[in-house]
Amino acid sequence: MSDVPLANWNGQELPLDEVLVPATDRAFLFGDAVYEGLRTYAGRIWLCDEHMARLQRSLGEMRIECDVDRLRQRMQTTLEHSGYRDAFIYVQVTRGCAPRTHWFPVEPTTPNELIYVQQIEADPYAEFRQKGAAVMTHDDIRWERRDIKSVNLLGNCLAAQAAREAGCQEAILVTAEGRLTEGSHTNLFGVKDGQVLTSPTGHHILPGITRRLVLNLAERAEVPVIQEAITTANLGTIDELFLTGTTTEVLPVTRVDGTPVGDGTPGAITHLLYDTYQTAVREWLQSNG
Ligand code: PMP
Repeated sequence: MSDVPLANWNGQELPLDEVLVPATDRAFLFGDAVYEGLRTYAGRIWLCDEHMARLQRSLGEMRIECDVDRLRQRMQTTLEHSGYRDAFIYVQVTRGCAPRTHWFPVEPTTPNELIYVQQIEADPYAEFRQKGAAVMTHDDIRWERRDIKSVNLLGNCLAAQAAREAGCQEAILVTAEGRLTEGSHTNLFGVKDGQVLTSPTGHHILPGITRRLVLNLAERAEVPVIQEAITTANLGTIDELFLTGTTTEVLPVTRVDGTPVGDGTPGAITHLLYDTYQTAVREWLQSNG
């Protein structure tokens, strides 16, 4: 896994550690950029349409113009050239380079487009599938447009670092009103009395691609779902907790701030949804030949 990821910077393919970003790039100065994180199974890009649609939406919200179909082709070519079967694919589009002003550049800019393909283990979370992850709660100090997948991630980074220092795998972000929104880089689900709970979409969370898939899988498995945030007030009554994300897939959480969730082992509905997720991947791989 030590290979340097293969990058494509504005159409030029090169090792990631050779990409040089100009200091006037607005992503460097302001975090003025959007991104996507995708993964492959057996060399094929999983839920590509969904990720590209979210990227298009983020670009629209930020008023950055970019040909997403061209990026998609470039991503596919970079993946093929990398030869990786299990890969994480990062795609970032910045507003481009311009003299530093808070307002958008007066002269039109050309977006800078970065793609890189990084080899990953088939399951980076294998260690936690059986025992479950430990998480800590952390104030949700992010801005109010968390639905836009922008590279402005300081609130997420500070929380993730606090979790790491506490020996936890993820930080669960909690609003001033006591609502558990999501993880620093995952969506959060709970199970209470056989019903699945998760925050509704809106400005306060990222609409996770895996979140949407898991909701569809739950519906197909006839597991009832309520799109309502878990709160600090009802957290103690939750039977199961799990995280979803592109590389996380469906990951059980068995401890929150040191307290066991339910009986302290991964729950049955979490297991069921993990299994249906893996089945969905297998069926998709077979249907693609
Ligand atoms: N929430 C946040 C804040 C994230 O950064 C991510 C990862 N992109 C997710 C949720 C999970 O989203 P997805 O399932 O699309 O990877």
